[in-house]
Amino acid sequence: MRIDVLTAFPEVFEPVMASGMLGIARAKGALEFEAHDLRDWALPGVHRQIDDSPYGGGSGMVLRPEPVFEAVDAVGAMDARRAFVILMSPQGERFTQAHAEQLAGRDRLLLLCGRYEGFDERIRSLADLELSIGDYVLTGGELAAMVVSDAVTRLLPGVLGGETSIDDESFTTGLLEYPHYTRPAEYRGMSVPEVLRSGDHGKIARWRREQSLLRTAHRRPDLLEAADIELTDTERRLIEGALHEHAEDE
Ligand code: SAM
Repeated sequence: MRIDVLTAFPEVFEPVMASGMLGIARAKGALEFEAHDLRDWALPGVHRQIDDSPYGGGSGMVLRPEPVFEAVDAVGAMDARRAFVILMSPQGERFTQAHAEQLAGRDRLLLLCGRYEGFDERIRSLADLELSIGDYVLTGGELAAMVVSDAVTRLLPGVLGGETSIDDESFTTGLLEYPHYTRPAEYRGMSVPEVLRSGDHGKIARWRREQSLLRTAHRRPDLLEAADIELTDTERRLIEGALHEHAEDE
């Protein structure tokens, strides 16, 4: 997978995109990543202008169309694979694990980061998709682009060691993941549940499933309603009990 980003602040990407699993993904060749400076396609002149004041008045500056259109053409032509263009925007679809999974199946992404008051509206015509990382407004699209790049990259084949670690994760199953413990078995009066030390893999799997269901029922009952999860009668009763407790707590 190749990810290109168009931004007025390309320097903010490298520390994140070269660290940990993302750095390893690049070293392994699973991810090619490049952040391009929008000012390379700025209007002619010493100021390397990429923004302008809005028609109709009002505060703030807006990204002009010419640098963005030209940059998308130029960066698009850097590779034969067609880039799926994503505009980072608080007005876009709310980014979820399902988006990450769909995007991980593509060859190439091109992420457009806004700044200032945002984009000239005509820039929206370049996008295949607009994505928001949540209902709040950031100063620019860079952090949002890093969130999307991170969530997508870890799903690429060969990036994470054990493929099963992805299968069990929060949101992948429609449920939140069960709790994890490591050594020591006792710490400041808190102990690791006995079942996890039992060596009985059947029991451990059942405990994990139960914890996953309870945790989702307590913290994110909306996920249980939305997800199409097959439940046994015992699991259904467990969840109903947890939801009942949850309602009483509120
Ligand atoms: N005036 C715009 C509005 O009200 O929709 C907000 C512009 S914001 C200050 C500047 C840029 O940050 C946006 O163009 C977008 O690229 C990025 N941005 C801000 N919040 C975001 C979010 N929640 N998700 C994704 N990108 C965001």
